[in-house]
Amino acid sequence: MSFQLFCEECGTEHDNDSYRLFCDKCHGLIEIRYESVPSEMFLGKSPKRRGMKRFIARLPIKNQENLVSMGEGDTPIIPLPRMGEKLGLRNVHAKLEYFNPTGSFKDRGNMVQVSVLQDLGVRVVTDATGGNAGHSFSAYCARAGIKFHGFADESTRGHRKLHAIGLHGTELHWVTGGKKGRAEGARKFANDNKILHMDYGKNIYFIEGLKTLAYEIAEQMDPLPDHIIVPIGNGSIYQGMYKGFSEMFEARVIDTIPRLHGAQTEETQPFVAAFENNKWSPKSDHTLSLANGIGVNHPPRLKSLVEIARDTGGRVIAVSETKILSWQKELASLEGLIVEPTSAVVMGAAEKLIDQGFIKAADVVLFPLTGFGIKEAIPGANI
Ligand SMILES: [Zn+2]
Repeated sequence: MSFQLFCEECGTEHDNDSYRLFCDKCHGLIEIRYESVPSEMFLGKSPKRRGMKRFIARLPIKNQENLVSMGEGDTPIIPLPRMGEKLGLRNVHAKLEYFNPTGSFKDRGNMVQVSVLQDLGVRVVTDATGGNAGHSFSAYCARAGIKFHGFADESTRGHRKLHAIGLHGTELHWVTGGKKGRAEGARKFANDNKILHMDYGKNIYFIEGLKTLAYEIAEQMDPLPDHIIVPIGNGSIYQGMYKGFSEMFEARVIDTIPRLHGAQTEETQPFVAAFENNKWSPKSDHTLSLANGIGVNHPPRLKSLVEIARDTGGRVIAVSETKILSWQKELASLEGLIVEPTSAVVMGAAEKLIDQGFIKAADVVLFPLTGFGIKEAIPGANI
């Protein structure tokens, strides 16, 4: 499909014949723009295709033959009446993103990321690994026959996600030093062996895949939700949804963009601080929160995240460990859904937004539930 890479800082255009993270001129992060696409494309008018493949005209994949797909997308949206009653809301829904092939929303980003690698003929890559993103990436690499060298932290040996990553054929390199250690390990390995370092938190391809979440919400919900609350680590889901809704708004497919709220933990809240114009410094490079999927101290596109919150009228909320655990349990016992602590953080944020008057009883609220709870040990399960 026809698309152009450009620098989000200085606007310089770059060709799309190589995998690119940064601008040659100013080292700014890369963005993507497309030739205009007819508005009919957005609302599922392609009966022969299902899932994310329907949206290929809006994804940075050049050759359809290079698509690496496992049937991702088309996740269900269901009402949460008992959760609504508990929160004091009449209209609460969940989009079950853990219905994706590896049990988390990350498959949307990796379907695009790994298809781009196929497009470019890349056969060996490296990156940090260990969580849902790493598990998903390993699975897509396996399907594409791409060799993946994953840098994992010693302290996570024995975790279920690492077992899965190994099972997909990833060559694991064990390092110490938390997130920093993994990132440095992958960077050095890439330089020494002249192979590609994915650096998935910084690349734009991953975010592009997350746009499809917005496209599907517009197909599935009428009216659109007034509020969508998502967990924020790097913020790819937040940025992807905003891009998707903005594209549909510009194409006049929708006439409003939902308020996009971000949820973080009390331990790791750089986005909350930036939104409130406060300074914040991380206490540690190791995530101690049970919501380990969003323990990102330095989100690479923090400025854009703040702009999105301001533009959509969203808020950013930090949630305590106690609340994360209790909402994870409430969701399981009230609605039959077991999600990871990282996903349960959105209900803690909703509770605060209701208390603060930002969400009213009659508003339509959507929680994208990002990760399946059975993928990691369940807190308090030994009862
Ligand atoms: Zn630049």
